[in-house]
Amino acid sequence: MTYNRAPEPGPGLRLHLNENTAGCSAAVLAALRTLERTDAAFYPEYAAVTSDTARALGVPAEWVQLTNGLDEGLHVVALSARLTASPALMAPDGTAFDAVIVEPAFEMYRACASAVGGRVVPILPERNLAFPTATVLAAITPRVRLVYLCDPNNPSGLPLPDGALGAIAQAAPHALVVVDEAYADFSGHTAIGPALSRLRNVVVGRTFAKAHGLAGLRVGALVAHPDTLDPLRRLLPPYNLNVCAVRALSAALQDRAYLEWYVSEAAQSRLSIERFCRRLGVTYWPSQANFVLVRIGHDAPDLVAALASRGIYIRDRSSLPQCDGCIRITAGVVADTERCLTAMEDFFAARPR
Ligand SMILES: *Cc1c(COP(=O)(O)O)cnc(C)c1O
Repeated sequence: MTYNRAPEPGPGLRLHLNENTAGCSAAVLAALRTLERTDAAFYPEYAAVTSDTARALGVPAEWVQLTNGLDEGLHVVALSARLTASPALMAPDGTAFDAVIVEPAFEMYRACASAVGGRVVPILPERNLAFPTATVLAAITPRVRLVYLCDPNNPSGLPLPDGALGAIAQAAPHALVVVDEAYADFSGHTAIGPALSRLRNVVVGRTFAKAHGLAGLRVGALVAHPDTLDPLRRLLPPYNLNVCAVRALSAALQDRAYLEWYVSEAAQSRLSIERFCRRLGVTYWPSQANFVLVRIGHDAPDLVAALASRGIYIRDRSSLPQCDGCIRITAGVVADTERCLTAMEDFFAARPR
């Protein structure tokens, strides 16, 4: 199965891909403007930006591998899992290993695992999309070489419960356990810390696409013990980040004030969306990320279309497991959120009860 890219909506307010609605820090553009002809002509250097990133994440530089967006990191872990799978694990259906994915999940996990010949073992959540720790533990077999976790989860915004990562990593020592922390800047919670050095099969994924607003420049990172990262490094091209991404990341890491401002806008927006849902009596999941999953009901597609006709794009998530009638709204700059909520209010006022 291939990754289904969201349709390109054209100009308007993009609240469908959890992007930064303010754009990157002005310091990033200023840094890009200083690029010289030779910067474009020479292969980029990564040592300085890697140690800046490591410092920002609170780990030694050897623990960080920059990637061309976190998507590249998600792909390379799948490739590595495939390479550790022995021929004895080959299944009659031709798949080489199993990848555990907790639904509803970011669609790249399925795309990456199947692209390298893995079979996806989908795990359904508990009631109200609660993380199914016991079911995941029960699904670990010798054939499971890859587990994708997401904290906080996309699309629910719910955190991984305390202790789940450690328990899963311990139960699956032969597997790579990936914790996708694309939204950790918003949740303020991370698996990166002293405990990570004991979890040798765990790789943490980060991105600068969301909170730092660098999605168009493609820059992410894998964080793990160097022994865990080394086999992944061998699978990456030596110049996987272009010079614009490198310059942009350096500048973005220095502008803490911008990051803090944006994270606080997203938090206020999240509260506005949640308040709106309570007022209208619609179900939502309390999110720790820069988006909120909302259960609209059978007319979710109509709502998405009505907003799109006003140039406001939100994401219909109703086809994901246990997400019938659900939409996902990006929580960005407060004024953008208010515009979206006003349009939603109009839709609800006009719809027959
Ligand atoms: C957006 C997103 C990514 C992709 O990050 P890039 O750095 O843009 O590749 C990865 N994981 C999750 C859960 C995301 O929502």
